[in-house]
Amino acid sequence: MLCVDGLSAWYGEAQALREVSLHVDAGEIVTLVGRNGAGKTTMLRCLMGLHASYGRTAGAISLFGEDITGLSPHRRARRGLGFVPDDRGVYATLSVEENLTLPPGMKAGRAGGPEPWPLERVYETFPRLRERRRFPGTKLSGGEQQMLALARVLRTGARLLLCDEPTEGLSPLIVQRIGDILREVKAAGVTVLLIEQNVHFAATVADRHYLLAEGRIVESLDNDQVREREDELLDYLGI
Ligand code: ATP
Repeated sequence: MLCVDGLSAWYGEAQALREVSLHVDAGEIVTLVGRNGAGKTTMLRCLMGLHASYGRTAGAISLFGEDITGLSPHRRARRGLGFVPDDRGVYATLSVEENLTLPPGMKAGRAGGPEPWPLERVYETFPRLRERRRFPGTKLSGGEQQMLALARVLRTGARLLLCDEPTEGLSPLIVQRIGDILREVKAAGVTVLLIEQNVHFAATVADRHYLLAEGRIVESLDNDQVREREDELLDYLGI
């Protein structure tokens, strides 16, 4: 579904990604794990086409077998890519429902992919958002904001979600709920690439993992390997 070949990225003269190659298959949940500053956020920004406003890139990205390297973020969105940023990007003064209905009628998916999620389906998956639908973004907890950010991208019909640390700063119970939601999203035919520092959580929710260090992929791990090396990885990540 997603194929990244020799991706490099710079901020001015400083190189943040060094010839990264990876792939994500349809229906998978894959995590990017790495220390602070390893290049994880840069990676997701490059995939979404957002790095161009920060600096230069090299390498190639294809989605569904088509080259998207030169495309703008909104064209990538139309092809089925959705980005959930680490700050969640919730419109603070708008209600939950307004966040979910803007822009009206937006469709990102292509024929053959999952349809944009109707509001009713969003509320079935995220009952908490139905309860809070009249609340402004400012009144939501971190977990509710995360759910809203995920739900909003699903509303566009995205078929590959790029999520920047969805569990950061959330309580264990809410982290568990986010895990359930990601599994439901996967069951609905959506593929996910996410940044995740909580390796225990990563091994329960994802299929595979890439370890990024100093802008390079240094290891590709399956769940058993992550579980066996959980302590070592936590130590390495400084958690
Ligand atoms: P974190 O978990 O801390 O966000 P990360 O793995 O996501 O870390 P990036 O944010 O992608 O890492 O950063 C990779 C490298 O690029 C780091 O050396 C960082 O200092 C640098 N960098 C990130 N954003 C910028 C920016 N806007 N301008 C200059 N350098 C940046």
